[in-house]
Amino acid sequence: DLQSFFRCCRIDDHFLETYLFSTIARKVREYSEAHPEADIIRLGIGDVTRPLVPAVIDALHAAVEDQAKQETFHGYGDEQGYGFLHEALVGYYKSHGVELATNEIFISDGAKSDLGNILDIFGTDNTVLVPDPVYPVYVDTNVMAGRKIVFADANEANGFLPLPDESVQCDIIYICSPNNPTGAAYDRAGLKAWVDYANKQNAVILYDAAYECFIEDETLPRSIYEIEGAKSCAIEFCSFSKMAGFTGTRCGWTVVPTALLDGKLNKMWLRRQTTKFNGVPYIVQKGAAACFTEEGMKQIKETLGYYKQNAKVLAATLDELGIWYTGGKSSPYLWLKCPNGMDSWTFFDYLLENANVVGTPGAGFGKNGDGFFRLTAFGDQARTKEAAERLKKLLKK
Ligand code: PLP
Repeated sequence: DLQSFFRCCRIDDHFLETYLFSTIARKVREYSEAHPEADIIRLGIGDVTRPLVPAVIDALHAAVEDQAKQETFHGYGDEQGYGFLHEALVGYYKSHGVELATNEIFISDGAKSDLGNILDIFGTDNTVLVPDPVYPVYVDTNVMAGRKIVFADANEANGFLPLPDESVQCDIIYICSPNNPTGAAYDRAGLKAWVDYANKQNAVILYDAAYECFIEDETLPRSIYEIEGAKSCAIEFCSFSKMAGFTGTRCGWTVVPTALLDGKLNKMWLRRQTTKFNGVPYIVQKGAAACFTEEGMKQIKETLGYYKQNAKVLAATLDELGIWYTGGKSSPYLWLKCPNGMDSWTFFDYLLENANVVGTPGAGFGKNGDGFFRLTAFGDQARTKEAAERLKKLLKK
């Protein structure tokens, strides 16, 4: 029966994400019903709020017109994406010193889908290594498939950037840098340690670079392929979501190098995609390609600058308050230690009730997240400043 089906694939074992965000929504709803006058500022969401840039909008409009004319109409495209977007991405990687071939890039409808779908090409008896805390999708997708999961502890002592433990055996390793929720980003030495460990273990790294566009520090890697040896052990996932505001437009990409297992993984992923996926809409891919024009890049950077300014305001506030945190520099997330030893949910309630500010309790991202709290820089600038003032007033010693 249905109940035993769900038991068998163990979806019911894990309800972190839905539990987390539905609990937040319920608490905020109950609070505003009891206090209708409260002016609540939401710094909890991981979604963008600024519109698509004009260069993208123009490309989308032009692509709609293409679809209206016989000569330029596009039906099914290649499942792995259009050549024009592959070429644009090859150029983007080249600008960080990474050489890729067009057949190593697969266009997707976003990083989340591919992060889940990639598991189709891995056996269910593989052991998965996941940092704790982290974006809940890595754990949930593997729980659904019944894979064994081991955790790498991220904590205050390692700056929420765990390094490999040689005594741990695993087959699949998730790395998210800059990280959601902690905002922490690996430097070259840190990533090199993971690459060396993976190559030694014959493990595959699933590298989530969804926030690479927030990296400003030139010394930090934006792609795992900037690290020597990565092409023989890593698959990289990235997205236009945070880079260009495509959370509602949907486009991303996955890189499966041909150096991985003598090209076998690239072929397996192509087979998987051509079998189960019919490609991202032509119109959307045209919009995505416009991000890489000179005008598009300039406009996207302006929008990213808007969010980065919010991150600076929040970081300066935490500095002033003497609160320990990670992130905020190469990331839209700030991950702070709850003051006075409060646990994440106690701090959530305290902030909601006393400052009318909503954030995300760290406990929702894994056991090591308890006692920590995530704020995001994706909000409105004036509202973020107002939230910062309220934090200062409430938390000043
Ligand atoms: N990876 C991380 C770490 C994320 O935080 C998110 C979204 O918040 C995603 C992937 C999903 O991105 P996409 O919109 O491309 O599916």
